[in-house]
Amino acid sequence: MGQADMHIHSIASDGTASAAQILEFAECHTSLDVIAISDHERIEAAIECQRLATERGGRVEVVVGEEVTTRNGHVLGLFLQHRVRRNQRAEITVAEIHEQGGLAIVPHPFSAFSLGMRRSAIMRIHQSTDPLVYWDALEGFNPSTAGRYGRTATARLAAELGLPLVGNSDGHTLDTIGDGRTHFPGSSAEDYRKAILDGTTTGSCVDWGLVREAFIYSRQVRKQARDVVRWGRRTVLRDGTPRDLGVPIDQLRLQQDREVNREAGRPGPRPMATAAERGEAGEPPA
Ligand SMILES: [Zn+2]
Ligand SMILES: [Zn+2]
Repeated sequence: MGQADMHIHSIASDGTASAAQILEFAECHTSLDVIAISDHERIEAAIECQRLATERGGRVEVVVGEEVTTRNGHVLGLFLQHRVRRNQRAEITVAEIHEQGGLAIVPHPFSAFSLGMRRSAIMRIHQSTDPLVYWDALEGFNPSTAGRYGRTATARLAAELGLPLVGNSDGHTLDTIGDGRTHFPGSSAEDYRKAILDGTTTGSCVDWGLVREAFIYSRQVRKQARDVVRWGRRTVLRDGTPRDLGVPIDQLRLQQDREVNREAGRPGPRPMATAAERGEAGEPPA
């Protein structure tokens, strides 16, 4: 059985490690076969991590992910080609993930602390008639307090909807990578995708507990303080200090050039399905 942790945060969002450090840790200190960096609203570090893994040719395969904030809570997009914008209706986000060949997963369902999606929103997407609007899996194993909250309800909902469960660490520090895992037949990223589509995944996780979580949080606060200092230098002193995305500047430029080219050749945004097309009553805007 292969093992995957597809919900890891880097320094580019609210995590504390760079793309290179995350890959190094996964290779040398875990038995994971596949990982994804899934930063909040960004994919720079994920793309860099994937590039480094290809260059290295080691055991660990890297998938580009993003944890997208929608008007209905967080959505985890995996196997992404480009970034999905934040603050859209969850239906639009899920459709945009599928449009680019990705998987759409509900991270830490029902968790009120961390923008976990509520049952009503999960059901609305599950029942949608739009061929691009559906769930691929629910994250049933997440070691944080946020993830623990609602674990039983998530397992029950997955059984009710016939959806597979996955496990992820939602790790924000190096030592937490692999604390939540998905077990799947095979060992490659494509095996992982196939297992989700076939519904053959299982998950596991270790619970952090409040003491460990407080320690993790203190490291996040230190990292955020460094971000504020950099922001201050950039705006007050105008010394060009960039926000630390944990990606070398030359690689960041290459990514930005590719993104500009993609935007230039891209058709217009996907039109929003009407309530009638979705076969349901619309909800009032958030
Ligand atoms: Zn989240
Ligand atoms: Zn997360």
